[in-house]
Amino acid sequence: MQLNDKVSTLKGVGPKKAEALADQGIRTLQDLLYFFPRKYEDRRQVTAIGNLAAGRDFLISAKVLSRRYSGSPYKKNTPLSLLVGDDTGTIEILFFNGRYIANLFNVNQTYSFYGRVTANFDRLQMIHPEFHREGDPADVRGILPVYPPVSGISQNEMRKLQLQVRPLYDALEEWLPEGIADTYRLADPSYAVSNIHFPADSRQVLESKFRLIFEELFTLETGLFYIRNDSRKDQGGIVIDGSLADPFISGLPFSLTEGQAAAWEDIRRDLASEKVMNRLIQGDVGSGKTVLAEMTMFAAAKCGCQSVMMAPTELLAKQHLASLTKDFSPYGITVGLLCSSMKAAEKRDVLQQLAAGEIQVLVGTHAVIQPDVKFNDLGVVITDEQHRFGVNQRSLLTKKGENPNVLVMTATPIPRTLAVILYGDLDISQVRTMPKGRIPIKTTQTDREGRRKVYDFVKQQLRQGRQAYVVAPLIEESDKVDAKSAEALFAELTKTLSGFSVALVHGAMKQEEKDLIMGDFSRGNIDVLVSTVVIEVGINVPNAAVMVIENAERFGLAQMHQLRGRVGRGSDQSYCFLICGSDSDIARQRCGIMCSTSDGFEIAEADLQLRGPGEIFGTRQHGLPQMQISDLVRHGDVLEKAKDAAKKIIDSDPQLEGDDVQELKLRIQKMFGTDIRLEL
Ligand code: ADP
Ligand code: MG
Repeated sequence: MQLNDKVSTLKGVGPKKAEALADQGIRTLQDLLYFFPRKYEDRRQVTAIGNLAAGRDFLISAKVLSRRYSGSPYKKNTPLSLLVGDDTGTIEILFFNGRYIANLFNVNQTYSFYGRVTANFDRLQMIHPEFHREGDPADVRGILPVYPPVSGISQNEMRKLQLQVRPLYDALEEWLPEGIADTYRLADPSYAVSNIHFPADSRQVLESKFRLIFEELFTLETGLFYIRNDSRKDQGGIVIDGSLADPFISGLPFSLTEGQAAAWEDIRRDLASEKVMNRLIQGDVGSGKTVLAEMTMFAAAKCGCQSVMMAPTELLAKQHLASLTKDFSPYGITVGLLCSSMKAAEKRDVLQQLAAGEIQVLVGTHAVIQPDVKFNDLGVVITDEQHRFGVNQRSLLTKKGENPNVLVMTATPIPRTLAVILYGDLDISQVRTMPKGRIPIKTTQTDREGRRKVYDFVKQQLRQGRQAYVVAPLIEESDKVDAKSAEALFAELTKTLSGFSVALVHGAMKQEEKDLIMGDFSRGNIDVLVSTVVIEVGINVPNAAVMVIENAERFGLAQMHQLRGRVGRGSDQSYCFLICGSDSDIARQRCGIMCSTSDGFEIAEADLQLRGPGEIFGTRQHGLPQMQISDLVRHGDVLEKAKDAAKKIIDSDPQLEGDDVQELKLRIQKMFGTDIRLEL
């Protein structure tokens, strides 16, 4: 047995199970060893029935005293009720669909039962416990691992697979570079992996976890440093005089807000310095980040170099193209577009003009990082809605030039501590002021009973010529299922809002189809846009005055905030309705926060306090790889240590060439995925 063997070499793993495992990223035996339990069941001790308490999991050993159906025994789904007892008392065990398992129990025979004890009025119950006949070898005493679910593989099967690979623990050797394990007092890998799966006590779990979390965060941090290093040598960048943008700024139909002016000061200083600019602009939706990008690109063009701006969707890229063309053509600056949907001949033209330096400003989607895109003299690269891109995509864009100045813009407010980790050596400017004259959006929270009224109000607004967004609930993290819920809502609203033009977009649609519909909506040909969260990013339709969020309880605060930012962009009063289908405390609190503030930074803080970082600061949102065992915020202290260690390694071996970092390099590549260009 070898670490690199395929899981299909294990007993009990056929092609189907191998595929299910592969879906979770488990292909080799090493992957299996690194598939960690989510929690544990403590089955070390049998508890006397007299000592049970409701609300916790217990293991009991008891004799079946009686067996009966609580209902007609001829119905398949009749519950089976067992009264079981030991010397200290009795408890009821209940199985639904009891007919299937009734035969497994004999009166007067002793069984062990493991499960949650609940109170049914004054009697204690266990519903659907795990059970074993006395003496069954599968009835393990100890601390049992509980793994994240893998479809088609039960907990017991997963445990058996993990038991099969136990002989490999000894093959796990220390792979961290010299000195790290000692410095941070880390358990060795075989100890950590064996005790994360089958610990004897909680101390072992803690020691193992610390090692494994450290390992993971260390890999992440070294990877981030490596990618950055790779693209950002410490040479100087192109120096650009920001005052070249003065004519453009004085030609703007508005004056800069305080926040914009301060951010521009930062940018100017960066551009003027020999060191390349590496700046993150954080600003709420609608705070006017685009114009900062425009000013930067204007100065670059006047200074004789090219700029590129990458946006996450084609629609957004085209929106930028329209405003850039309008704003720049009076000054004779040439603007080009590059997206994957363009015809081959069109693309060829753009690529050619770009290489010849005839296009001064390029906007586009991911198409701009393709290998065939070559610039003549690239001085500035900008990513809009940065949180939608992976670290590696940002790095590919930077590599299009020789030390170009970098500006990244994001509307997702993240705490500074996390930003430092995510963006490393990026300097940060926050735009916390909104352009003057914005009418604050009126936000109302309502329950399902209030729905009719909401749509009556929507109708009224539509009659006045306004447009509306309706966002369908998230059912689960699956485009297909979400699409269904959006379709149902669409069907309903087509009836309720008859006489108006209602359209549907959802995540399972093709990009071109989505763009077409969104385009129609922004031209005013569609009154109501029903959608899943696909409209989240950047779209700007000033005439849209209403945002209805259905099943608001299913959305995170950050998401609701982003969605609400789609309205309130015109000169009319805008409205946001949160229809809440649940009255859970947390849902109500979230909606309450939405109603009381529109400051994204405040909302982010509140979100963090309400339920911890999980979702909003999830790695997905920021283009970071998926973590197995660590949580970037919860394990902030380990992260700090891992970062220090990673920095030392990178400083002494920037290209990771030494023998003792080859395993690390492999792990980085695995973590960041294949599309990262690590030259190995
Ligand atoms: P975001 O930060 O979400 O990208 P945008 O850059 O799209 O925001 O700006 C939203 C709108 O605000 C645009 O229509 C833009 O022209 C306008 N805007 C930007 N700055 C100002 C300002 N200082 N005063 C008035 N309007 C502004
Ligand atoms: Mg924007």
